[in-house]
Amino acid sequence: MIDSLPPLREVIAAHDLQPKKSLGQNFLLDLNLTAKIARQAGDLSGCDVLEIGPGPGGLTRGLLAEGARRVLAVEKDARCLPALEEVAEAYPDRLQVINADALELDVLEHLTPPVRVVANLPYNVGTELLVRWLTPKAWPPYWDSLTLMFQKEVAQRIVAQPGGKAYGRLAILSQWRCEARIVMQLPPEAFTPPPKVHSAVVHLQRLETPRFEADAAVLSRVVAAAFNQRRKMLRSSLKGISPDIEAHLVAAGIKPTERAEQVPIEGFCALAREVAK
Ligand code: SAM
Repeated sequence: MIDSLPPLREVIAAHDLQPKKSLGQNFLLDLNLTAKIARQAGDLSGCDVLEIGPGPGGLTRGLLAEGARRVLAVEKDARCLPALEEVAEAYPDRLQVINADALELDVLEHLTPPVRVVANLPYNVGTELLVRWLTPKAWPPYWDSLTLMFQKEVAQRIVAQPGGKAYGRLAILSQWRCEARIVMQLPPEAFTPPPKVHSAVVHLQRLETPRFEADAAVLSRVVAAAFNQRRKMLRSSLKGISPDIEAHLVAAGIKPTERAEQVPIEGFCALAREVAK
């Protein structure tokens, strides 16, 4: 037992929280597991934690039991609010719940640094939120780390190295300014109801400064174009970026006949610097 609240199966029955597929509701009911996920985020004692999609509150309870200073939980499904209210009462002044769509809400005004983001994300909005967290207006962003559950295949794309199919925009966005690692793998049976796919938790620790210098907007444009047509040679997929793209590729130390998935992040950053000159 991690707290004195009822087991999650009872919470779900008491509040009639039938999981909804449309909201990506695959719940974690094992509180030892949610506490373990919370621990992957590191020492939470001096941190505000932003949790997206608390649902019936399993991970929320893990985060609070593991000592988070405060949790801000953003949940779209109003049916979950009474269950979350009970969690807030068990941890006075440490849990704030906002009933909102995380894609619409500006969370900044509700958080005090340092901030860690921890979530078992709804699969349908997970990648969209990750890209937003990784592309703030200025770096460093408001958060120190992201500890997020994804479909295993998405997790593998986040940590992928050059040379394979999984390597692409998500790997470059994630690893350019963060240390990204898969820290846990979970089978479908860990969730209720079980999803069709395996899942994994990724931990992204932001770097104070990017690994290699580049303008974020130019890098993003170059990488998007390169991987949009990933089977083509770069001199052809990047034609639209600049009329001098062949010269820029050579100046960046990249063969114009190479394909996007062979170029490491350092190469894309060198190319972005050339294009921006
Ligand atoms: N954190 C809980 C757990 O681990 O058991 C629930 C995880 S479940 C995979 C995803 C949760 O995100 C659901 O509670 C769902 O209602 C919520 N959700 C879905 N779309 C959302 C959105 N756009 N904004 C906020 N919450 C959302």
